[in-house]
Amino acid sequence: MKFSRLFMPTTKEAPKDASLASHQYLIRGGFINQTGAGIYDFLPLGKIVLEKIKAIVKEEMDNAGCNEVQMGFVTPLSFWDESGRSTQMGSELLKFKDRKGTEYVLSPTNEEAAVNIVKNRITSYKDLPLNIYHINLKFRDEARPRFGLMRGREFLMKDAYSFHSSQEDLVREFNLMEETYKKIYNRLGLEFRIVDADSGAIGGSGSKEFMVLADSGEDTIVVCPDCEYGANIEAATRAKKDVPTWYENSDAPESMSKVLTQNLKTIEDLANFLNIPKAQNIKAVMKRAVYEKSSEAVIFFVRGDDELEETKACNSIGALELADISEDELKDAGLTPGYCGPFNLPEGIKFVIDSELENEKGLACGANEEDYHLVNTDLSLLKDAKYADLIAVQEGDICSCCGGKLEYTKGIEAGHIFQLGNKYSEEMDAKFLDQNGKAQSFIMGCYGIGISRLVAAVIEQNHDDKGCIWTKTTTPFMVDVIVSSAKKEDELNAGLKIYEDLKNAGISTIIDDRKKERFGFKMGDFELIGFPYAVVVGKKLQDGLVEIVDRKNTAEKIEVSIDDVVSTLQKLI
Ligand code: ATP
Ligand code: MG
Repeated sequence: MKFSRLFMPTTKEAPKDASLASHQYLIRGGFINQTGAGIYDFLPLGKIVLEKIKAIVKEEMDNAGCNEVQMGFVTPLSFWDESGRSTQMGSELLKFKDRKGTEYVLSPTNEEAAVNIVKNRITSYKDLPLNIYHINLKFRDEARPRFGLMRGREFLMKDAYSFHSSQEDLVREFNLMEETYKKIYNRLGLEFRIVDADSGAIGGSGSKEFMVLADSGEDTIVVCPDCEYGANIEAATRAKKDVPTWYENSDAPESMSKVLTQNLKTIEDLANFLNIPKAQNIKAVMKRAVYEKSSEAVIFFVRGDDELEETKACNSIGALELADISEDELKDAGLTPGYCGPFNLPEGIKFVIDSELENEKGLACGANEEDYHLVNTDLSLLKDAKYADLIAVQEGDICSCCGGKLEYTKGIEAGHIFQLGNKYSEEMDAKFLDQNGKAQSFIMGCYGIGISRLVAAVIEQNHDDKGCIWTKTTTPFMVDVIVSSAKKEDELNAGLKIYEDLKNAGISTIIDDRKKERFGFKMGDFELIGFPYAVVVGKKLQDGLVEIVDRKNTAEKIEVSIDDVVSTLQKLI
């Protein structure tokens, strides 16, 4: 490829809302073009990167025995009604009607369509297992599309769906996909971590995420420095906190009693007043839980020094999301903000208590009465209370695997694999005959990779203050032959010769042969676009020399004779 023929509209200006390096550089480098909120065109260089990532993913999926198909971007809403997700997905699901009034959706994922393909076509256990995948557009009407390709509304995903006759076989495939994904991210040249994950609206039993490590990542990952443990904060667990009880450091009453705590509405104030640590209080976090068609006040009780993890809290009650709730709404529900506790709540109020508090004794909590708290409580007395893991693991909490001190790091979710079980096949009545001739629902797994998000993730992990630094397998071209002043015929000819030689040696090469641009400008484009290497053909040509520049360290240049360019680059690459 020649720069003189390349459509590559680079700019100095980044969009105003571009806070991430990848967003800025992909726009400035002319890789992508925004056409609407969360909708992007891929321009020539961006398209090459996208295709390179797709090719690596396809090769590894094919190696793992998966079958490539292509499901429609548009799917009938009836599929989604069958699985129950037409309402469950909320407003992320974009629905529309055709001229006959039939309803469709722009696919945000394709579990239903995959079941539809296999249903009645695979009828016997003998034809299982099967793994089908495609690399296709997805649309999710995200509430806040942002960060360029990172969180688009229209984006490209590789999604695979596997079908099995037993749970053991699903686990085998799940492990195979985990190994396949490792190969993919390694080949892409990315530093990543595999973590336990929440399964979200897709459902199922176990799931793992592949996190590309980057400070700008939207996900907080909890990792243990002493062992392999890693989990998204939405799913992270810790060893139970060891908190001494009330009895040990206070002359409290011997049984649960009510104390006057006028104007002491915060955990801090209460702990000071009672002379106990914050951890010995029960904190009430009050939210409005939003369901498909309704909403209600819900209270989550956690230890005074813990924070509520909203995804866990949502999962514990099957809500779509949690919203803030006003004092007035709480009072209307018969609650006493500032004095709320799990004992003597008004009839019918839904509440969940963090599992670490199950049967705990000696804690203080609100009495559900203005100006009063209860001290020295005994949670084992609460009958029929619901317990669930609700807390956000904090840095310094103890690893339940090895006793190490947990830490936070940031990641970009680049892939997610799920053990779905028979959730979708049951709902959609998709069955096969087992060894005994009995009809069974397919056991399923599903496996996603954010292809277009990866374009941004590579740059988030690999850039400097000048621009992109592509990894060797994702770069649009490996070498940029920069002809300093292409108006000079000898320079241009020498550049073209090197360009041809490199291509003949199988090295993907582009030549900056633009006549109207000066050397500084060309170098700026090289740095912004981020090819791994440049060969600069300039003044030293008279002595038969050119310079090789490594994009990772542009200050250092290696001078080589023209005849050694190919062999030197071969060694470097
Ligand atoms: P997130 O938590 O980031 O919203 P998700 O868990 O909803 O993602 P999945 O349903 O697991 O996403 O989809 C599989 C993969 O598709 C993700 O791991 C991610 O890489 C990619 N992906 C999901 N949503 C988007 C988006 N809005 N833009 C670009 N890529 C996305
Ligand atoms: Mg996910």
